[in-house]
Amino acid sequence: LKIAALDIGGTNIKYCLYDTEKPFSAELLRSVPTHAQRGAEYVIDHAIRTLEGLEKFDRIGVSTAGQVDPVSGTIIFASDTIRGYTGTQVARIFTEHFNKPTAVENDVNAAILAEVSFGTKNVEGCIIGLAYGTGIGGAIIQDGKLFAGSSNAAAEFGHMITHADGVRCICGQNGCYEAYASAAALIRNAERRFGKPVDGYEIARQRHEPAFKALLEDWYMEVVYGLINLVHIFNPHELILGGGIMENDFIMEAITERLIEKILPSYKHVKVKGARLGNASGLLGAIHLAQTMVI
Ligand SMILES: [Zn+2]
Repeated sequence: LKIAALDIGGTNIKYCLYDTEKPFSAELLRSVPTHAQRGAEYVIDHAIRTLEGLEKFDRIGVSTAGQVDPVSGTIIFASDTIRGYTGTQVARIFTEHFNKPTAVENDVNAAILAEVSFGTKNVEGCIIGLAYGTGIGGAIIQDGKLFAGSSNAAAEFGHMITHADGVRCICGQNGCYEAYASAAALIRNAERRFGKPVDGYEIARQRHEPAFKALLEDWYMEVVYGLINLVHIFNPHELILGGGIMENDFIMEAITERLIEKILPSYKHVKVKGARLGNASGLLGAIHLAQTMVI
């Protein structure tokens, strides 16, 4: 089976042509700028032209920013990163243009699904995934399937409230998890404390300095507060933590140690893993969904 896969983000559209008979290699990965500011219609046209440049394929898999109805393949809601994207019938547009079945899923869901399922069969158990970046995205997977909720909007872990009357979040509420525990929140705090621009590399490099150590310690606990709630609610077999910041082993170790110490005894078997697929994960999730879709 040959699958054309797209990962439509605010900055780049990643794409590849994948043959399910062969192993995936990072060399297959291609990328073009999204030009999101030109609006949804342009972005979709641009994506179509990108796929037209590929060899023949049998199915299409799309991982995309925005909340997605995976049954109809429509964007239910998207922020203004891609103007006019809300309501776009992504699956219908691709299916009609190429006359090929098309699977569409939200990018965080696709990425976490790939971490769990790509290249493996019969995934069992409850797995909770989170991606820490500008915000915090999440996914709930039970026995290899995404849990959608009643309107395909489940697992917005970034908007759990972890601080009563806390700081304002972009969603309009106060005290959301992502306003404290995202990678962006760590950087914001660092800049406020040190009064100058600071990036993740500097924080990693200076992590043994007392001021940076204190900064990181506060952030670890912000991450852990949210995870304690999730572990106690879902009692998962595994937690998968993604986003570039979690590629630092010292961060994964610090979070895991603090989490396991805090959770109640009957939950302590939970395995905490870092995401391993990096920036190909959304595409691999799209491939997995296209490959396993019921036609
Ligand atoms: Zn919020």
